[in-house]
Amino acid sequence: MQVQKIYQLVNFLPVIHTLHLPKLQGVRIHFTQCTPVPAQLEKVLSMTSPVTVIDHPLVLHKLSLMRDKTTPSAVFRKLLNEISLLLTYEVLRDLPLTTRTIETPIESMEAPFLAGKKLCLVSILRAGNGLLSGMMDLVPSARVGHIGLYRDPKTLKAVEYYLKLPDEIESRPVILVDPMLATGNSVSAAIDRLKQAGAKDIRFMCLLSAPEGIKALSAKHPDVPIFTAAIDSHLNDHGYIVPGLGDAGDRMFGTK
Ligand code: URA
Repeated sequence: MQVQKIYQLVNFLPVIHTLHLPKLQGVRIHFTQCTPVPAQLEKVLSMTSPVTVIDHPLVLHKLSLMRDKTTPSAVFRKLLNEISLLLTYEVLRDLPLTTRTIETPIESMEAPFLAGKKLCLVSILRAGNGLLSGMMDLVPSARVGHIGLYRDPKTLKAVEYYLKLPDEIESRPVILVDPMLATGNSVSAAIDRLKQAGAKDIRFMCLLSAPEGIKALSAKHPDVPIFTAAIDSHLNDHGYIVPGLGDAGDRMFGTK
């Protein structure tokens, strides 16, 4: 984490709705496309999960197209796939490297390669799969796990119905993916299961998040960094992100 790019939320009132400031106070927010940082902000005050907002213009443009309710499912899926490549690039920015000697056509060199065990990508079914395929294209050697969770519509709590994880998860960096961080219940439950299975280095990547979800996840799993393309205003009474994009699974698969 680059300290000079870590901001306290209080300095981003124009970016995030003022009403929700109390919900997120103390959460470290890092915008990837920010203006220079005043010196006094370099001090990181909180012990909560760092949140990285990947607000690259290409990401935001594609996200706006996805939010539009007239965007058809086929286009929605394509955009999600494209955004997943851009998000993954940022999520994996600090992967460790090693060097190996190779011969170029001109001379030998010490060339950088990814070090350590193969990555583990874990998708929360079903909407997580929309982010997964682009990530697998980018990191084809990654191992892939799936966690099936549905939200009980009454309690909004996560109920598990499927779990399949790769072996040696304890020594792999794990990237958990779900497009929407709403209440945080499903993601928290998925992280509980990953930790039970031995995972130690977990990061969470989503497309859209609500302040309520960030706060809840941060409180429950402060060791898990959160990567998101945008933080929206709030959750409505049905647990949907506002303004959001609706139900990500339904938008992807054309269901209701
Ligand atoms: N899940 C979704 O698909 N959309 C929301 O707005 C919240 C949770």
